Amino acid sequence: MKKKILLIHTGGTIGMTRDSRSGVLRPDHFYASLLKVIPELSTVADIEVEIPFVFDSAELNFQHWQQLAAIIKARIGTIDGVVVTHGTDTLAYTASALSYMLHNVPVPVILTGAQKPLDELRSDARGNLINAVELACADIPEVCIFFDYKLMRGNRTSKNHINFFDAFHSPNYPLLAEVGINIEIYRANLLKPGGHFHVFDRFSSALAVLKLFPGCSFDYFQPAKEIRAVLIIAYGAGTIPLQSGDLPARVERWLQEGKLVVLDSEANGGRIEPQLYESGSRLLEMGVISAGDMTFEAAATKLMFLLGQYDQPELIKGNFQKSLAGELSELP
Ligand code: ASP
Repeated sequence: MKKKILLIHTGGTIGMTRDSRSGVLRPDHFYASLLKVIPELSTVADIEVEIPFVFDSAELNFQHWQQLAAIIKARIGTIDGVVVTHGTDTLAYTASALSYMLHNVPVPVILTGAQKPLDELRSDARGNLINAVELACADIPEVCIFFDYKLMRGNRTSKNHINFFDAFHSPNYPLLAEVGINIEIYRANLLKPGGHFHVFDRFSSALAVLKLFPGCSFDYFQPAKEIRAVLIIAYGAGTIPLQSGDLPARVERWLQEGKLVVLDSEANGGRIEPQLYESGSRLLEMGVISAGDMTFEAAATKLMFLLGQYDQPELIKGNFQKSLAGELSELP
């Protein structure tokens, strides 16, 4: 019997059409006729299309993530898998957020998109979609991104290329599956099936992000009273300037105000090790915590998620430093 797949279209280049005069790409309701454009999809699975909104993914925020989680929650038990088509620009954020929200999701939730619209020559949309639907029929109970023949854990993924079809990478976690002549699923890399499925849907935007660059003035960065967490994108293993500027004193003040301060790195690959250098170890002594080997997308959405779930800073801190959905490697 064919598997039942829920295909949720949310917008993005994959479903956009190009204005014939200006060449500008705009969201369109193209997907209503998806099965007419890729009729072979219906040989892979029974597909039901749902279109909650159609946006360039730059428009999305946590209310859209909540909408997606609610749609998926309502259908669990009646479907075998979910495919979400989405703009590539914030795809890794939505995938990370859904991975925290859909705790112990029992079916595959595969997010995909395209670099070129479905109706254009040499589009990557057709392949990404057909493969995502096939993978959604398999036993892969976690939130993933499928792009350019690779299946990656959603909360380990970053968009790393604007032009190439190979637009996403998973710098700190191996692939979950690869598509060639055959589909190879790397079972050892999948999340182990967990317990009871539950949706946690609260978020908070009380997060401020400071990205360092040599010579930056910290005066421009004044997180408001309502901000409850500051994420510093530092250098390399987690270094900040100690001599130029007054960042350590500012961090001290934010901590005294009860804000959580988290250290991450502009380098995507590897795990930050703030204790390696003087500046990082000083921050750790003050009470700053480390983002480990999480991507920026996984760390930022996890903070928004935990700030929404908990009021107590200790609970936010404790949960941030452990893996909720495979986004963080445990230290050996
Ligand atoms: N701007 C588009 C979006 O994220 C880019 C894409 O889909 O590739 O919606």
